[in-house]
Amino acid sequence: MARYRGSVCRQCRRENMKLFLKGDRCFSDKCSFDRRGFPPGQHGQKRAKQSDYGMQLREKQKVKRIYGLSEKQFRNTFKRADRQKGITGINLLTLLETRLDNTVFRLGFVNSRNQGRHFVRHNHFTVNGKKVNIPSYHVKKGDVIELCEKSRTIQAIIDSLDAIVRRGIPQWLEINKDSFKGEIKGLPGREDISLPIQEQLIVELYSK
Ligand code: SF4
Repeated sequence: MARYRGSVCRQCRRENMKLFLKGDRCFSDKCSFDRRGFPPGQHGQKRAKQSDYGMQLREKQKVKRIYGLSEKQFRNTFKRADRQKGITGINLLTLLETRLDNTVFRLGFVNSRNQGRHFVRHNHFTVNGKKVNIPSYHVKKGDVIELCEKSRTIQAIIDSLDAIVRRGIPQWLEINKDSFKGEIKGLPGREDISLPIQEQLIVELYSK
């Protein structure tokens, strides 16, 4: 399936919550959801009763959109989570959180996962000293992610690192702003993922 190329803010309105897909704009008064917090379309403002299936579907769409995955990528990630030991829903969230594009976003190098994907693809980061340009690469405990020398003057990255204090860094990560290095201290657990996600609904959807 092709990547979604429509309005990004429309996705927040569809899911009825802020998904924070546009970096700093999401915290400004330009946020579309703050101004029009109802679903898009002609019937957006009508209240429709949701079936169980509808709720499961919306939850899956919401998570897929937060992490910026296509349907195929998301389903493959779910299959991988299902094959692992432990609780499938939590495995799924851990796999999504440990993607390289999400990790550089969480470390504060970029201000959205979308921007993270862009910078990873364009060879701006190394993992344990080796260039990695695959956004879906999964980081492991002990990995060190470093911004390449040539990229340290990019204004978008400098601005994003300056905003770390406001956004905060999750406990499973550590950042050294002076050396442009981040370290994975451990894998994220359910308590490290503060997003309002009901992963069980996604498991139910894919178990049908
Ligand atoms: Fe969503 Fe608002 Fe950010 Fe647009 S600006 S992506 S509506 S949170």
